[in-house]
Amino acid sequence: MAFEGLADRLQSTIKKMTGKGKVTEQDVKEMAREVRLALLEADVNFKVVKDFVKKIKERAVGAEVIDSLTPGQQVIKIVKEELTALMGGEQSKIAVSERPPTVIMMVGLQGAGKTTTSGKLANLLRKKHNRKPLLVACDVYRPAAIDQLETVGKQLGIPVFSQGTEANPVDIANEAIQHAKDEHLDYVIIDTAGRLHIDENLMNELTTIKNNVSPDEIFLVVDAMTGQDAVNVAETFDGVLDVSGVVLTKLDGDTRGGAALSIRAVTNKPIKFVGMGEKLDELEAFHPERMASRILG
Ligand code: GDP
Repeated sequence: MAFEGLADRLQSTIKKMTGKGKVTEQDVKEMAREVRLALLEADVNFKVVKDFVKKIKERAVGAEVIDSLTPGQQVIKIVKEELTALMGGEQSKIAVSERPPTVIMMVGLQGAGKTTTSGKLANLLRKKHNRKPLLVACDVYRPAAIDQLETVGKQLGIPVFSQGTEANPVDIANEAIQHAKDEHLDYVIIDTAGRLHIDENLMNELTTIKNNVSPDEIFLVVDAMTGQDAVNVAETFDGVLDVSGVVLTKLDGDTRGGAALSIRAVTNKPIKFVGMGEKLDELEAFHPERMASRILG
């Protein structure tokens, strides 16, 4: 389960605060130290931890606590609010183009979960939002990737647009969009190529697709289990492509949660969805407040 250790540590820190009729500066210092350790242990980015702890400290010694009738509760509230803000505050909704189809480009490293997430997203859009999606196979370098998307599409009963490995990804994407218009489909989800590591060719190709297709959303798919690496990958992709949101996959297997807590703060891009398993219905909209509540118990 995600955030296991962090939740345990933060909850025990917070328990000490509950019911306190008076919160001294010493109490705040001790709490801040424990929060800091808990976050670092969860593999949260060092600078993010520093800023976070500073904010909590400032607020916890301020008037909102001192003047409160229940200062202990007030401190807990502050931690929760700041944790929610750290993860992006409000839930971030998916874009809807005024002139359908809405085009979503999925980018990320190979193995991050792009193809699976493309399928999951199509499934979610159809099931929850009653939309008609089209999946598009733009990874022309790996026939296995095209097969995989086709299998996912078949499993879900969602159409897949592919032109094999001979065609150019930009042409495929453009033709897919035209096809969606002709068929009155309202979402086009483009599964792009990935590499094991970031390289210039990949970035150039993704930039070319972006410039030609003008997607409404660019979702960066990152593997939460890779921790700090996920944050670095996110920074690099975002630097080149200016992504509109992040999908964190494999949160079901990420016991620490560092990426989930750092990515928003480092990239300033919202986490839109989280992958909670391999199955095609295991994608959830990301709710910062609910996640904070889950962590703080
Ligand atoms: P791609 O190379 O980026 O397209 O990655 P794939 O979609 O092929 O996914 C790589 C592996 O990660 C597959 O075995 C998926 O089943 C698995 N995977 C994807 N998302 C999740 C998730 O949210 N949780 C878990 N546990 N596995 C996932």
